[in-house]
Amino acid sequence: MQFIPSETLTIDRKARVNMPFFDLDLRPPRERTCDFGDVVIDFSPERAMVEAARCIHCPDPAPCMVACPTHNDIPSCMWLIEQGRFSEAANLYHEHSSLPEICGRVCPHEQLCQGSCVLNKTKTPVLCGELETFAVDYQRRNEGRVIPLAPPTGKRVAVIGAGPAGLGCADQLIQRGHEVTIFESKPAPGGLLVYGIPNFKLPKDVWQEKWEEFERAGVKFVPNTYIGKDKTIDDLFNEGFDAVFIGVGSEVDAKMEDTPGTDLPGVYEATDFLIRGNVAPDLLPENMRKPLEIGKRVAVIGGGDTASDCLRTALRLGAEEVTCLYRRTEREMPGGKKDRQMAKDEGAKYRFLTQPVKFIAGDDGKLAAIECIEMRLGEPDKKGRRKPVPVEGSNFIVECDTAVLALGYWPDPIIGKTTPNLETHDWGLVTADKSTGRTSREGVFSGGDCVTGPDLVVTAMVGGRKAAWAIDEYLKSKSK
Ligand SMILES: Cc1cc2nc3c(=O)[nH]c(=O)nc-3n(C[C@H](O)[C@H](O)[C@H](O)COP(=O)(O)OP(=O)(O)OC[C@H]3O[C@@H](n4cnc5c(N)ncnc54)[C@H](O)[C@@H]3O)c2cc1C
Repeated sequence: MQFIPSETLTIDRKARVNMPFFDLDLRPPRERTCDFGDVVIDFSPERAMVEAARCIHCPDPAPCMVACPTHNDIPSCMWLIEQGRFSEAANLYHEHSSLPEICGRVCPHEQLCQGSCVLNKTKTPVLCGELETFAVDYQRRNEGRVIPLAPPTGKRVAVIGAGPAGLGCADQLIQRGHEVTIFESKPAPGGLLVYGIPNFKLPKDVWQEKWEEFERAGVKFVPNTYIGKDKTIDDLFNEGFDAVFIGVGSEVDAKMEDTPGTDLPGVYEATDFLIRGNVAPDLLPENMRKPLEIGKRVAVIGGGDTASDCLRTALRLGAEEVTCLYRRTEREMPGGKKDRQMAKDEGAKYRFLTQPVKFIAGDDGKLAAIECIEMRLGEPDKKGRRKPVPVEGSNFIVECDTAVLALGYWPDPIIGKTTPNLETHDWGLVTADKSTGRTSREGVFSGGDCVTGPDLVVTAMVGGRKAAWAIDEYLKSKSK
């Protein structure tokens, strides 16, 4: 339900449709590839008000609200921003989302809210993602933000993993008065927000300010603690926790096991490459502090968003020639168009229908080239995606001194293996109810990428929030 019902607004829809559209201001590619700073130039208040006034206020429920996984009340926020009531808009975003300043920046809006905007039919959609970022940043910078807390219930919940799922869960639990302790295997909180998504998409200071909100609200953080190795879920219950939330993501890099040479110096896995390329050494685990050795010619293998992030990181690290090798065509690429266009604008090249078959060492023992084979598209698979098929005898060489494997991610099965009665499936994903996060083990809930497989920040956060509501019910029923 919209906070401001659309039928109460007296608006001239035709005039709004015909308002001029001014596209986002981006820093020029040549400038932005010299640093890791934000690519998008922030809206000014005036600019935000004009952009928000393009919303034609579709009848409730508006398609943008339906398409947003957290069901942000976008039309009401647009109405408030249009009138300069930025903090009220920010409060409304916070009602529906635990991480609006992050989702405003990293959501694939063109597939979600903006993709469903009715203006797409004849015009350009309202830039709802950037307006979300603007309103929430405006409030935080000018007034600060405090998470509203309920009186303490005396119940303690252990959250495993400090990524979007764990944070969404923690946010909703502390707002209901429960004490939350997050156990995290890395030195700092954030999950892939810190140890994955590059700074030019999500500046680390934005995350840092967000985390301080959690700290001020009393969320406890236990770093460098790998549940399943350092302690188990049973240990957490023995320590007196009343419920446990598992939000450990799906972060194990997929390998090219049958391809020789992936162990050569100069061949990196995407996570290692992105983390060491983007994260300050003091936030890195000790085994990751060695600086990256990046060459002049970099090949990135894969077609998803991670591949785009690796291409753009390589360009910022000083590579002169950066090429994406992908085994299907651009049409089948799973990654978002927006990030791919940014990579192209910044100078990344693409070779489609190309599959590496061997990583070749030079005289110094380091990577010098990749032998590839040309592919063609064969019959569709079960999901309707045409399968790439090698063209016999079409092998060719791509010279490069650095290769990054961005092939996708698997879950870490350790939690399932060390937790009795916790059901898992497909290489270790946790089996959990979609709407409550309930697992097969009493008192244990789960959400995010470790349940769905690799997905989005917003869907992981929603999984965490829903689980928190179910944990709250569970704790109340236990008290009775
Ligand atoms: C390179 C990259 C770029 C991406 N870009 C985007 C983007 O632009 N937009 C978007 O919406 N999504 C993006 N995603 C996807 C998004 O980051 C994930 O879907 C989201 O972070 C999942 O949240 P999560 O909390 O489930 O898991 P994670 O963010 O992976 O967090 C899980 C946390 O659990 C910790 N952990 C794991 N195992 C244990 C354990 N046993 N004990 C204790 N702690 C543990 C991990 O260290 C981590 O901190 C990207 C992903 C990658 C890899």
